[in-house]
Amino acid sequence: MTRLRTQQLPRDQWRVVIHNTHPAYLSWEQFLDNESQLQCNNVALSPEGRQGSAREGIALLQGLIICGKCGRRMSPRYHGKGGKRVTYQCDQRRQKDGDYGICWSVPGSAIEVAVTEHVLEAVTASQLNLSLSVLEELEQITQQQHRQWQLRLERVRYEAQRAERQFDAVEPENRLVARTLEKRWNEKLQEVAQLEQAYMQAQRVQRLELSDIQRQQILQLAQDLPTIWQAPTTTVQERKEMLGLLVKQIALTPIDKPERCTKIQLLWHTGSITEVMTKRPTIQQRLGTPEIVIQAVRELAYGRTDDKIADALNERGLTSATGRSFTASSVAWIRLKFKIPKPESDNRVAFHLGIREDGCYSTRALAQELGVGINTIHYWREQGVVPAMRETPHGPWWHTVTPEVLQMLRQKIRRVPLKPE
Ligand SMILES: [Zn+2]
Repeated sequence: MTRLRTQQLPRDQWRVVIHNTHPAYLSWEQFLDNESQLQCNNVALSPEGRQGSAREGIALLQGLIICGKCGRRMSPRYHGKGGKRVTYQCDQRRQKDGDYGICWSVPGSAIEVAVTEHVLEAVTASQLNLSLSVLEELEQITQQQHRQWQLRLERVRYEAQRAERQFDAVEPENRLVARTLEKRWNEKLQEVAQLEQAYMQAQRVQRLELSDIQRQQILQLAQDLPTIWQAPTTTVQERKEMLGLLVKQIALTPIDKPERCTKIQLLWHTGSITEVMTKRPTIQQRLGTPEIVIQAVRELAYGRTDDKIADALNERGLTSATGRSFTASSVAWIRLKFKIPKPESDNRVAFHLGIREDGCYSTRALAQELGVGINTIHYWREQGVVPAMRETPHGPWWHTVTPEVLQMLRQKIRRVPLKPE
């Protein structure tokens, strides 16, 4: 007994291919097209990698972006902790020519924010316009396909009629010819029937895809997009799919003058093109300390230690350019780098100023006020009698002296006379 084994071979090793044994939903060419598109969409399978749309990944615009400089596809690169930051990069040239160095790249977050805002705005501003023109386009495609079907049907029907006429015209005595013609006529009739069947099938598939589901999806999407988009339950993948329903391609072009920015051009499925610009900071600007943080440190610099400044920054929810929270040493570094003064940490300033605007006394000023030596003040401070603080480890002490504290200290002096009578 022999056992049959089935083994799948790559298509280039097939010995026999019989086309159209079964009525087809799509043509062989269309199948090959689809298959190669699927392969393009799959990074693992495609040697060139990254073409096509919605794949897993956190880059919202993945698969949509092309380089405005050279027209090649731009691909996302992930950085940072957990790959949370994305950069879009044009590096197809490197991959194709083995040429090192990339065309250009741009941080993704600003682009994604700009595209999102632009799309949500465009959709809400002209909801109906958009959905209707998308529908019109889809309808046109359907009509074109309908027309092609009609032409095919007409041709086959005509051929069937001609075969019928030829059969009618043959002399009855000429049986052999008659039989051949009858056979051909039958074949043509069968062809007509098959094509009609296929047409009905195609119509059903098309109507299902275009008219009902897609039409509804698009109309619904246009209305609900902002809500759905912003819902916390919506995943990046879903946002990508929604975006893909509306936008066909996005071209990014770096602009240097008069201001460093990125030109973002959106090609919508409706065929229209819209444009939006977004700032493109330099690496120094991007990785440097955010302006808002520098400003806050300036504000907080007076009367606080670096520890306290760091706490205040963290409480305000501020972070460094790379998303870190602040510590005393990072605040000290910011103060140093941006020359943020802390005049009250200067012993000379303390000496001349004596009493601060907020009523804090320097050691010397307090000693003078009470008529005691500065060592007494040091002693009281160490004993915790007078609340005091200093901003930096070696800076001067400042004593918080309220009228009550002053009163209390005076009583202390009276009880223990420090100066002989
Ligand atoms: Zn490029």
